[in-house]
Amino acid sequence: MEIPYRVEHRNVKHPRLEFKDLQLLIILPHHTKDPTEIIARRKAWIERKWSQIQEAIKNSGEAEGFMIFGEKYTIENADVNKPAIDHAQKKIILNPKNQKHTKQLLNQLKKLLRRKLEEIIGEYSAKTGFKPEKIMIRRQRTKWGSCSSSGNISLNLKLICLPEEMIRYIVHHEVTHLKHRKHNGAFWQTISQEYPNYRQIEKELLTQWFKTEKLLQNLTRPKEGDP
Ligand SMILES: [Zn+2]
Repeated sequence: MEIPYRVEHRNVKHPRLEFKDLQLLIILPHHTKDPTEIIARRKAWIERKWSQIQEAIKNSGEAEGFMIFGEKYTIENADVNKPAIDHAQKKIILNPKNQKHTKQLLNQLKKLLRRKLEEIIGEYSAKTGFKPEKIMIRRQRTKWGSCSSSGNISLNLKLICLPEEMIRYIVHHEVTHLKHRKHNGAFWQTISQEYPNYRQIEKELLTQWFKTEKLLQNLTRPKEGDP
């Protein structure tokens, strides 16, 4: 199997498979040392999922560069003191040899995303009366967003890459969790009032998950180049 994978041992009863960071993660109970059996048993699923991911990356044309709110930006390596986002020319300029630049750039993107999220959530709250206590932006590994029982909403930094209408959907999804904690009938009923096509959007988001993973990697693991 050509598919890159890594194995983690956790306190689980049964082996579990997940695709994360463009890699297959095999979670095994502590007593199972060899992943061969689960790989063989789930081979069809693994291969199907893997080709979906490859397809998504290929079709996205996002093997290089970055995206901000659904718009393409090129990444330019230059000997600059500070990384910069040039919205007019749709360029991100950074020195890949400067260790601080990635972090500074991610902070700039975070600020941009926060401004957009506050605007969307403000509109949403005015309309529905639901308002999160706090909005946190994090580089979550497994989800677009989450909602805590204390009413805080965490959103993934990867949202910065998505077109605004998808960000709006994710915000709507998470804020709806303030009222309906679980993905039950009542939850999807509320979602479908605003988004009758939510199934289609959820499917598209799965594809976007892998595309944006690649985009973030383009930014945080820049190719060696002469600035
Ligand atoms: Zn949810």
